[in-house]
Amino acid sequence: MRKHRIAAIPGDGIGKEVVAAGVEALTALAALDGGFELEFEHFDWGSDYYKRTGLMMPADGLEKLKPFDAIYFGSVGAPDLPDHITLWGLRLAICQPFDQYANVRPTRILAGIDSPLRNAGVGDLDWVIVRENTEGEYAGQGGRSHRGHPEEVATEVAIFTRAGVRRIMRFAFRTAQARPRKFLTVVTKSNAQRNGLVMWDEIAAEVAKEFPDVTWDKMLVDAMTVRMTMKPRSLDTIVATNLHADILSDLAAALAGSMGIAPTANLNPERQFPSMFEPIHGSAFDITGMGIANPIGTFWSGQMMLEHLGEQAAADRLMRAIETVAANKTLHTPDLGGNARTVDVTAGLIAAL
Ligand code: NAD
Ligand code: MN
Repeated sequence: MRKHRIAAIPGDGIGKEVVAAGVEALTALAALDGGFELEFEHFDWGSDYYKRTGLMMPADGLEKLKPFDAIYFGSVGAPDLPDHITLWGLRLAICQPFDQYANVRPTRILAGIDSPLRNAGVGDLDWVIVRENTEGEYAGQGGRSHRGHPEEVATEVAIFTRAGVRRIMRFAFRTAQARPRKFLTVVTKSNAQRNGLVMWDEIAAEVAKEFPDVTWDKMLVDAMTVRMTMKPRSLDTIVATNLHADILSDLAAALAGSMGIAPTANLNPERQFPSMFEPIHGSAFDITGMGIANPIGTFWSGQMMLEHLGEQAAADRLMRAIETVAANKTLHTPDLGGNARTVDVTAGLIAAL
């Protein structure tokens, strides 16, 4: 029997609720499949751990994670801790050292779920957003001087390396090539960001030559929000910088119906390190502990994890079950306009499996 070892890091807020649901669903799926086993180990890292120890994860946390086949993550962020401490202390502290440079975010309108776009339904929005995940605007370069004085200065320097841009462009072109439309939109802002993003455009054009069967176009990020909203069918695969794709993918999730549905894979495509799978949403303080968090984004992230682990049949089965649950309005949580609870959706998903 094939065995996959998964590190589960629920983190904070509703992360704990949705990862519990996801582990339950994936464990049920593995039992039904019979061909593989998922061995989960739980790590209680995050804001509570920080309040006890002063660290979001132990100093040897990465060493502990390294032997795992994948990481199943919830979210980080607590109302009484600064967000930059929690984010950099755990999520980015894993993504960057593990070189998870390709952040992949599929978005689709699932049958049964209403898009806020007046005329959009199933099939009108079917995108994969590829986000550069290790540098750009979130490289962590910068600092503060003259703290507390009137002349205080803060810099936040975006870093674009030729190697970093080339590898994300290649990944994005490969992703586009594997989809039926073979169409990639490169998001940029090279009119205003005249150094890093001009190189970004140049490298896109160079890499495009390696993929003659992929059609591509280029879009300024501000105009991209308009195109996503007004002409969703005109898009397929999208590549953007760390910051731009962060923003565009929340928009994409909202246009597909809810933040609670959207999944993410943080991939180290060379498989030198474990990759990490998580819903795109955060800790959702406003609904934490109420038992109404939508677990679909976490289930879908589990589906991406199974694909990465080579369990394609189980991944397909899980996706069909997600579609069955989405189509059933009695299983919609409040973010989708229903009154189902996390446990109802989880039980419904397992029944659909
Ligand atoms: P959020 O995603 O936590 O919440 C935004 C809104 O969407 C809220 O109204 C919330 O209730 C709703 N929502 C999100 N997920 C949902 C779900 N599964 N089911 C139902 N409703 C859902 O974003 P925020 O409020 O900006 O951030 C809260 C905290 O989370 C902050 O500390 C932030 O730094 C952190 N955060 C972490 C991550 C991450 O760990 N990857 C991502 C985003 C935000
Ligand atoms: Mn985000």
